[in-house]
Formats: sequence, C-alpha cells, structure tokens
Amino acid sequence: MSYLVLARKYRPRTFSEMVGQEHVVQALTNALTQQRLHHAYLFTGTRGVGKTTVSRILAKSLNCQGPDGQGGITATPCGVCPACTAIDAGRFPDYTELDAASNRGVDEVQGLLEQAVYKPVQGRFKVFMIDEVHMLTNTAFNAMLKTLEEPPEYLKFVLATTDPQKVPVTVLSRCLQFNLRPMAPEVVLEHLGHVLGTEGIAAEPQALRLLSRAARGSMRDALSLTDQAIAFGGGQLQESTVRQMLGSVDRSHVFAL
Ligand SMILES: [Zn+2]
Repeated sequence: MSYLVLARKYRPRTFSEMVGQEHVVQALTNALTQQRLHHAYLFTGTRGVGKTTVSRILAKSLNCQGPDGQGGITATPCGVCPACTAIDAGRFPDYTELDAASNRGVDEVQGLLEQAVYKPVQGRFKVFMIDEVHMLTNTAFNAMLKTLEEPPEYLKFVLATTDPQKVPVTVLSRCLQFNLRPMAPEVVLEHLGHVLGTEGIAAEPQALRLLSRAARGSMRDALSLTDQAIAFGGGQLQESTVRQMLGSVDRSHVFAL
C-alpha cells in the first residue's frame, strides 16, 4: 500500500474539521443554513491555510444529497453520498479546479467558460474553482467578467489567491471575500498532537513546538515537515532530531550565552 502523506490524509472534509479559520467557517455555515448564497467567493490567504480545502467543502455543501439521497444544501455535508465521495476523490464532473499559475491564458479561461452553458451533470451546482487567480492575464480576466457578474443560477465561482492586490478591482467587486488567516503556532501544535495521536507516533512536546513554529502559519507545511521529521527520526519525533533537521540553534544555548 502506498503511503499517503499526512497533509493529504488529514485534509479536513467538513467545516467542523477545519482548524484556525473559525470566522470563515461561521460565515459560510450561516450562509448555507439560511441559503443566502452568493455566486462568487474569493478566498485569500498565504499558502497552506486551507483555501482549496474550504472550496471543496463548499462544493460538497452545495451538492450533498444526504445519506438517503433526500438531502439539500447543507453546512454539514454527509461525506457518504455520491456527490460528497466524488468531490473528495477529485472526480466530480461538476466541480472543476483550474490552477491559474499554470493556466494563465484566455484560452484556458474560455475553455472553462464554455462549460458554463451546460447544466450540472450530476450535482445541483457546477462549481468552478480558480486557484492563484491573480496569475491570470488581463485578457483572461476580461473574458471572465461577464459570466462572473451574471452566472447561470446553477454556477458558483470560487476564486483563491495568495495575492489579492494583484486581482483587478472589477473582479474583487463581484466576489464575496474571505480572508483565511495564517495559523497560530498553538493551533498548529494542537492539531499536530491530534494527528500524531491518531497515527500512534510518539512525539516529544518540544519537537512538536519546533515544528509548529517552523511551519510559519501554514498547516500544510507543518504536516509536510512532520512527515519529513518522522522519516528523519526513524518513526519517532525527538527534539534533537527535529532540531537537527530544521537546522536551528537550541534556544537554551542562546539564553545560556
Ligand atoms: Zn453528501
């Protein structure tokens, strides 16, 4: 069996599993519960804070059919219906992710928009997710504006960016904007403790503290570093090996000096 990296294995699948972004989760939960849905969302924040994750959960919320197939739009997608499982597995025909970092041009955007005229195949909504949207060319932005302003009622846009200042105002003004915060080290620390507990991996508290700080606010980086440290330490997380891996100087030495 192939090893699934921690960042993927522990990617939150529901809003309640998301940590450190309570303000965004609450706003989206309320909107979904009251069915006050906007047609375009913009998630901003540094890398590894959950922009793609929140987009996938939102897509599930919009399309979940419930365990009995009778469910509607929900803030708590069931995770077991065909829509939820297909989105989790990355094979839902009505959820499209476009990475604008590698697909910047007008052709890629037009290719996406051409699909907008067709109703959803399987779900209630089509969701177009454009990651790193600030990378699009100006022509690509312009091609998108009309559909972004008045999409068909079955289409939702989710835009994500690490650099909102590079997104044209014309696009910003059409989106409901949410800023995902960098994760506080304590939040990362707690989550790492939870993940390693579930994995049954012994970890020294100081090792986890070092990893949480080194992640600099990104949960994905924290989990990747932890993967690396587990490999480096032969299946254990000890302060000395983590410190060696991170190449950091022991603070107690600094204070002693
Ligand atoms: Zn579901």
